[in-house]
Amino acid sequence: MSHDHDHAHGHDAPLPEVVLRVKALEALLTEKGLVDTAALDAIVDTYEKKIGPRNGAQVVAKAWTDPAYKARLLADGSKAIAELGYSGVQGEDMVVVENTAQVHNMVVCTLCSCYPWPTLGLPPVWYKSAPYRSRAVIDPRGVLREFGVEIPATTEVRVWDSNAELRYFVLPERPAGTEGLSEAALIELVTRDSMIGTGLAGKPGATA
Ligand code: FE
Repeated sequence: MSHDHDHAHGHDAPLPEVVLRVKALEALLTEKGLVDTAALDAIVDTYEKKIGPRNGAQVVAKAWTDPAYKARLLADGSKAIAELGYSGVQGEDMVVVENTAQVHNMVVCTLCSCYPWPTLGLPPVWYKSAPYRSRAVIDPRGVLREFGVEIPATTEVRVWDSNAELRYFVLPERPAGTEGLSEAALIELVTRDSMIGTGLAGKPGATA
């Protein structure tokens, strides 16, 4: 997680305490032979793909089913997300951008890998990669195509550059045919990538 240095006003800032604690714990456990790095990788993978993004999925499903919550979320992302209990390091200043038929938003951190940990967990490897960081800005539609997402020419694509002070979060478009679904069922349709904007929410019946 050493890539998660802050930028903007934070070049000389120390690593967040949580990162230092994780590193210290990992070193200690490895040294004592209590854990191997492959097992740790598996844990990281779980946080990256499963546990972490489920927090964000709850935010999205609530916004889809509760118009008043959605209004609060778009007006003040950090505050509305904190209502559900998700706040803290790397999630202090959240701005939520809504995907519609007219606008598709996607998020990048061009300088490093700023990412909203409390809602999405750990950033995926590709999010931190130089090709994604540069190409998301230069050719967002091309990048989206590589993720299997074809955005109609009539839909505007907006790219948001997260940084140490501000982290963007995409509210994906609610899929058609989900009118009768419960909040719990809707959560299952919200993928991590749909909240970064490199994916769309899943269709009911298909695995998200
Ligand atoms: Fe960054």
